Parts: sequence; structure tokens; C-alpha cells
Amino acid sequence: MPHFKYLIIGGGMTADSASAGIRQVDPDGSIGLVSAESHPPYDRPPLSKGMWKGKPLEKIFRQKGEDVQVYLGRSVVSIDSEGKRVEDDQGEGYSYDKLLLATGGTPRKLPFGGEDIIYFRTLDDFKRLHELSEGKAKFAVIGGGFIGSEIASALANRDQEVIMAFPEEGIGSLIFPPDLALFLNDYYRQNGVEVLAGELVSGIERRGDKLALKTKSGQEHLVDHVVAGIGILPNTSLAEAADIRVENGILVDKYMRTNKAEIYAAGDVANFYSPELDMRLRVEHEDNALTSGRIAGRNMAGEAVPYEHLSMFYSDLFELGYEAVGELNPKLETYSDWQEPHQKGVVYYLDEGRVRGVLLWNVWDQVDQARDLIADPGPFSATDLKGRLPE
Ligand code: NAP
Repeated sequence: MPHFKYLIIGGGMTADSASAGIRQVDPDGSIGLVSAESHPPYDRPPLSKGMWKGKPLEKIFRQKGEDVQVYLGRSVVSIDSEGKRVEDDQGEGYSYDKLLLATGGTPRKLPFGGEDIIYFRTLDDFKRLHELSEGKAKFAVIGGGFIGSEIASALANRDQEVIMAFPEEGIGSLIFPPDLALFLNDYYRQNGVEVLAGELVSGIERRGDKLALKTKSGQEHLVDHVVAGIGILPNTSLAEAADIRVENGILVDKYMRTNKAEIYAAGDVANFYSPELDMRLRVEHEDNALTSGRIAGRNMAGEAVPYEHLSMFYSDLFELGYEAVGELNPKLETYSDWQEPHQKGVVYYLDEGRVRGVLLWNVWDQVDQARDLIADPGPFSATDLKGRLPE
């Protein structure tokens, strides 16, 4: 049975960043990485952004010759935390001194549609969808979140016919204030996307070489292909079976340690306490994956670095783009400080006079300033915030 000083379960950005974190502290300790993916760790954001604009495939791979033993196409199926060993789905065992769970999440699925729906998440999903969009076709995109909005934009930019369906009233309604989400519906329409807002997809039927997309309100649309981004479910079953505490993700302390000795968790699957926001969070974005992974790696290798970073996220929607930090919860009080309505400006999310989140809409290089505002106890009113960013 191979033995590793550090064993990482998962093969995404978190896993790779953790191995880099380990190497910052321990140049020699053996690192093993077991991944269900058929590719070595790669950057995920370009799959729905840059790779549709010509970013070359080889540029997304992350490992730059670090000394990591990578096992691909294998899922770990059990953890023996007492014996400090795990077993994969091919019956291979691995023993460890320190273990990291960087197991990420699996796309939420609809109870219909089966293999006809591409639940967009991996490099193979990108390859499949990109190939399908070589010719001319009609695509249905289900979901109005990150994947839905980015993929609809990418497909429309490739001159495909795109119809987008989601249950909320506007694109990005889960994070944007209602006026901005409604503006985005119109903006997507202007860019050629047929937007079905407030429409829950209730069924998909194959009709010859077409697919019929049915919605709850009784609409039916014939399309060639269906792609969905309706959220992910954190991969916690392995941890649960090993008596690791799970509550909307794997619970970790500020050093990314679980309740089991020598077992850590990071990335999409980890639920941690954010001192900046004074709440527990589970975050599914790149910055969190990279930073929490690196910190977990350093701590596995003997440091004691707390995870106190308030991570940011970003997206591109046709010609618009944004960066954001903190709690983008449209149920909070919001104040929109537009330089040009819905084109350029800053949206502040407030709770009892404290800034909880900041959306920088076509405003760049202001993330640290936004973090400073979130750290400032205030209190802030709209008058205080007007013109505050960009600095
Ligand atoms: P998401 O951003 O959470 O959006 C999921 C969307 O699907 C929500 O609008 C959700 O609405 C909707 N939905 C849920 N059930 C549905 C159903 N039955 N029919 C139609 N719509 C439904 O998740 P995602 O877009 O799938 O992205 C997956 C993950 O990748 C996320 O963790 C995301 O953060 C990450 N990601 C991040 C970026 C970025 O940072 N730029 C880019 C791509 C992906 P309700 O919740 O109202 O049901």
C-alpha cells in the first residue's frame, strides 16, 4: 500500500493549491493526490469564460512539475481515520500521516432528461459543449446563476441560438438587487438570448433528433441540446461515513481542520467561520478554493495559519463584468451608486449600517478597498457611501 505524508482527496484547484501550500513549508514530504477526474488539476473558471474566447487548452493545467504522485480516474470510497488509510473504488489502499478532503461538489440534477442534459462543470463538459457548438444549433440553458449566465453568453457569442430558463425573476437574482437582475434579462435579450424568466423547467422529452423543453406554465420549446447549471451539492458522504462533522459542508476550524485528528478540508466542500462577516460560510468560488487550499496545505505541513481571507469572485456577462466581495444577499438593504445606470457603478449590501458586501460593476481594482469597508464598523448610510468607490 503506498504511504504518503500528505494525501489529498480531490483533483481540483483546491487540491492543487494545497499541494503548493505543503511545498512552501515542506519541500520533501511525499504528497499523493487521488482524483476522480481523468485530467490532472486544471483551472475551472476558463471553462465558462476564457476558453470560449480562444484561451488554449494547455494553459489551464495547473501543475508545473511539482513532485506529487497523482492517481486519476479513482474515487476514494472510505476513510479509516483510526488506521489513517483510505480505499478507492478499485480496491487500492493508501495510508497517510495527514489527509485533506478537497472533494468539491457534484452538480444538482433534474429528475428528468438523463444523459440529454449537460450539467456543466468539468473540462470534459466544456469539450462536449464546445464541439456541439461547432455548427449551428439551438441550445436551452437551464439556470440563471453563474453557469447559466456565463454559458448562455458564451454560446450566444458563438452565434448559437440560445434560450435560457430559470425560476427567479431575473438573471443572477440570488445575488443582484431586483432592478439589476431585471436589467440583465433585457440585456441578454438584446444580445440575442431568448430569456424565460420565472419559468421552472418541468420536463424534457426526446422528439427524434430534437429535445422538447417543457415549463411549468405550459410552454414547450424544441431545441437541439440542453445544458444546465442549477447549483452543486457538496460531496460530503465520504466524510459523513467517517464520522467527520458535516453541516452544509464539512465543518472545519480556522486552521481548516475537521473534528478528526490529522484530517483537513478546504474549497467548495468546507464550511468555515468567517471572522470578517461573523458567520459560517461555504464558498464555491476560485479565490476561496485557492486560498483555503493553500492554507490547509501549509497547516498540514506544520504551520498554524488561520483562514481569515474574505474571498472575492468575478464574472463576465457579454461586455459587462464585475468583481464582488462579501455577502451579496439581495435580501439585505442595498444602495446602488451608479456612474452610469446598470453599466458602471458600485452596489453596497448593508445590514444595520454595516457594509456586508460590495459589487463592483465594471469597476476594477477596488476589491481591497471594498474589504476595508466591510471591516469598518461604520455605521454607513447611502450618503456616506455615495462616490466612496472607486477610490
Ligand atoms: P448557482 O450559481 O448556484 O445557480 C444555480 C441556479 O439554478 C440558481 O439560479 C437556482 O435558482 C437555479 N435552479 C435551481 N434549481 C433549478 C431548477 N430545478 N430549474 C431551474 N433552475 C434551477 O450554481 P451554478 O450556476 O450551477 O454554478 C455551479 C457552481 O459553480 C457554483 O458553486 C458557482 O459558484 C460556481 N461557479 C462560479 C463562477 C464564478 O465565480 N464566476 C462561475 C461558474 C460557476 P434557485 O436557487 O432559486 O432554485
